[in-house]
Amino acid sequence: MNPDGKSRRRFIHDLGFTAMGIPLLSSLSNNDSLFNEEKKQKIKNGKEPGKLGIAVVGLGTYGTLVSTALEQTNHCYLAGIVSGTPAKVDKWKTKYSLPDKNIYTYQNFDSIKNNPDIDIVYITLPNSMHAEYVIRAAQAGKHVFCEKPMAITVADCDRMIAACKKANRVLYVGYRLRYEPYNTYMAWLGQNKIYGDVKKMNAGFSFVIGDPTQWRLKKDMAGGGPLMDLGIYCVQGFEYVTGMDPISVTAKEGPKTNLEKFKEVEQSVSWQFEFPNGIIADGNCSYADNANMLRAEAEKGIFELTSAFNYTGQRGNTPDGPINLPKYNQQGRQVDAMAYALKTKGKIYTDGEMGKKDVKYLQAIYEAMRTGKKVMLK
Ligand code: NAD
Repeated sequence: MNPDGKSRRRFIHDLGFTAMGIPLLSSLSNNDSLFNEEKKQKIKNGKEPGKLGIAVVGLGTYGTLVSTALEQTNHCYLAGIVSGTPAKVDKWKTKYSLPDKNIYTYQNFDSIKNNPDIDIVYITLPNSMHAEYVIRAAQAGKHVFCEKPMAITVADCDRMIAACKKANRVLYVGYRLRYEPYNTYMAWLGQNKIYGDVKKMNAGFSFVIGDPTQWRLKKDMAGGGPLMDLGIYCVQGFEYVTGMDPISVTAKEGPKTNLEKFKEVEQSVSWQFEFPNGIIADGNCSYADNANMLRAEAEKGIFELTSAFNYTGQRGNTPDGPINLPKYNQQGRQVDAMAYALKTKGKIYTDGEMGKKDVKYLQAIYEAMRTGKKVMLK
């Protein structure tokens, strides 16, 4: 089957509706701001009609991106914020016309339960804080979207899933690339065996980390180093291209060239998963290097993303030539798909169970790295 023919056209068509079983309805572009004055006025006076209200918790780098993306979404909007920094509160209040009643601190966060404007709480805090705030949000009766990695231990994931289940609220994890065309195309090519069986995979995600005092380098806050932050994208890539779960892993920590910066966490790690049918997947990630790729070797050739995991634009190739697909605001597309699924009671795959499974695999990579032994995952 030639993917540049009928089936590829089918994939592009499906991008607008479903890909990997996920609704992908919003059509977003940077010039397509729906956040006009009239809408601002509606928010000031209460809830925006027809849309789910989201409160973003933690207004750092990613909380800022999510808030900006929410200016363009069709099924949800930025209804509130939770922050401990008055200067940020002032900025957000002005930019998004947020009413005072929808602004919370970490201390009074639990009173969000009395606020009907807020349907969903989106957690964009450091990794170790996800569990506490997901559980508090669920106990306040709110649906929860949580950033990756879902938590730093499997036990925390269990507590988060249980709290959301008890409160009858959803827990979705912010796996934006599950909603991104180039990555969903890779998944489509792999899972439909467009180039035959996938035999071997490689993925790498790295960047050079700056500030040595940041939480990403503190084990108790991040849960680990680049593996928790970046390696998780490679793990996900292997899962969605093969459509399978790994059965075992071996791993090796890379050398530390900066002992001060990396005194608590690994500087780099490489690992090898074995998947069913003998598929081998080699992953690596580092905080002292640059990499950003996902590659699959199949019976009839190689398909790959040479710019895979970033949110500034994907690139890739197949045996039939370069991949050329629409580009979207990734956070907007992800959060809108999740909100749409929630509104329509649709099935979503990027849920707490998927988040927990990945935390289990990350922990297994660390165990293999520490022990030097193969760790079985089933
Ligand atoms: P960041 O450091 O820029 O922001 C963290 C926010 O948490 C800040 O607003 C900070 O004030 C607040 N905070 C509250 N208590 C804190 C404490 N005790 N210590 C430190 N910060 C505290 O981090 P970020 O890059 O925005 O990452 C936040 C989360 O988003 C992480 O879980 C990360 O993995 C995830 N993330 C996801 C993506 C993605 O593409 N899906 C990209 C970047 C980050």
